[in-house]
Amino acid sequence: MNQSLTDFASKIFEEKYRFLPAQSRRITQPELTSHLESILGFSPEVAGFSMEGRPVHRLTWGDGPIRILMWSQMHGNEPTATLALLDLWSLLHQYPDLPVIQSLRSSVTIRCIPMLNPDGAQRFQRRNAAGIDLNRDAGALASSEARILKSEKDQFDPHWGFNLHDQNPRYTVGNTGKVARISLLAPAFNLNRDNNEVRDRAKCLISRLAKELDRVAGPNHTGKYDDAFGSRCFGDNMQKWGVSTILIESGGDENPDKPFVRQLNLHLFLCSLVDIASGNWKNGSPEGYEAIPFNGPLLADLKLTDLMVQSAGSQTFKADLAINMVPMEQINGHERLVGLVADIGALHPLSAKVVVKGTPGVLRPGTSVQLTGDESAEILKNHLMNGASTFYYPEQAFDKVAGWVSVVPGTFCPVGSRHDHSTRFLNPGERASFRIVEGDRPVQIVVNGLIVWTAEAGWEPVQGWWLPDGVKGLEVEL
Ligand SMILES: [Zn+2]
Repeated sequence: MNQSLTDFASKIFEEKYRFLPAQSRRITQPELTSHLESILGFSPEVAGFSMEGRPVHRLTWGDGPIRILMWSQMHGNEPTATLALLDLWSLLHQYPDLPVIQSLRSSVTIRCIPMLNPDGAQRFQRRNAAGIDLNRDAGALASSEARILKSEKDQFDPHWGFNLHDQNPRYTVGNTGKVARISLLAPAFNLNRDNNEVRDRAKCLISRLAKELDRVAGPNHTGKYDDAFGSRCFGDNMQKWGVSTILIESGGDENPDKPFVRQLNLHLFLCSLVDIASGNWKNGSPEGYEAIPFNGPLLADLKLTDLMVQSAGSQTFKADLAINMVPMEQINGHERLVGLVADIGALHPLSAKVVVKGTPGVLRPGTSVQLTGDESAEILKNHLMNGASTFYYPEQAFDKVAGWVSVVPGTFCPVGSRHDHSTRFLNPGERASFRIVEGDRPVQIVVNGLIVWTAEAGWEPVQGWWLPDGVKGLEVEL
């Protein structure tokens, strides 16, 4: 049985099985409910209601003696695993007669709470409608959502728990500079981070999952999440309550909707079920777990190295500059990324997706131009060529700004700022808008973190740095 289940999991991975083929990560509770209805053929059970009265669903599958509790999206803006749970549920219901599924069914009982925080999911925010972080509410149980999870744990009395989140997609693995696609953790159950049988079981399983991830996601893409004990956190308390708990954090993906990381989640679910049902988790080891590198520094989007910089009124100095694209503004209902200075100084330990080395010239602030929002792309280009790098526009012109998308075909607009940031030029958190010049001659123009023009390439994309319109995936969980 073990071999065939493993083969089944691998086959599903190779086939890139997905219940919903082209799905935005952002689903709401009514959408989840309707997807579950189509999988089950009936309305899913309701475990309870959110603070705003949205149903939280409870799914149960299998009649085996080993009980497994899985919960996702206690943080409303961390939906990747919810989609993977839909994939899992669809798979289990699509092939009920397969011998491998039947043997799984007789070995385990799975209880699943997808989208524990539907109010947060509705707003795509971490916390629930009352502003409570559900993962800091395991002790107080002030929120109805936390009470649902605690009550499911008490009633179901699981042996294993899967705590499913999305982490900051900029995390790298150890000192490799590679993006953590997935990070795993057997949460600590006390401040000393002691080991006991419950936690060791989770560590053994994780050591095997990490090996499998090395195989399917490539080496150095699996990290270990911070293992400090959180007395208010659910994973840590589940471990304390005797449930062998595994934290799975969905990390970075090339595609902001994270289809690959979602696929990795489904694979981890299947591999875990196989290992738990067969007892093969015992072949893993706490030492294997300890060998997984912790999450490393955050990856920047763009790094410009060895620049000569001249802030207004200051001396010229040499520095590296890191820039991140951060979703911030809604323009005509679309989320736009703005490019913010992430760091400045000697940044050699910091990795970036794109590195531009040693552009000659001096980096300086450009002039600022007040706009109405009625300007054409050509006018904007003229301003840029005549020394501008910062555009101000009034609040009421906000909607019109979307018309500037055509500055460079196929890209989103280098929109300016509604506020004057010049006094904090190049400070972290400020708009990354500047010019690099040699004498009076421009070499490079950067607006809102985008290299919009270079002397070499003109208005052409630079080193793959241009992101396609609609990219909105680099949400940073603070
Ligand atoms: Zn989370």
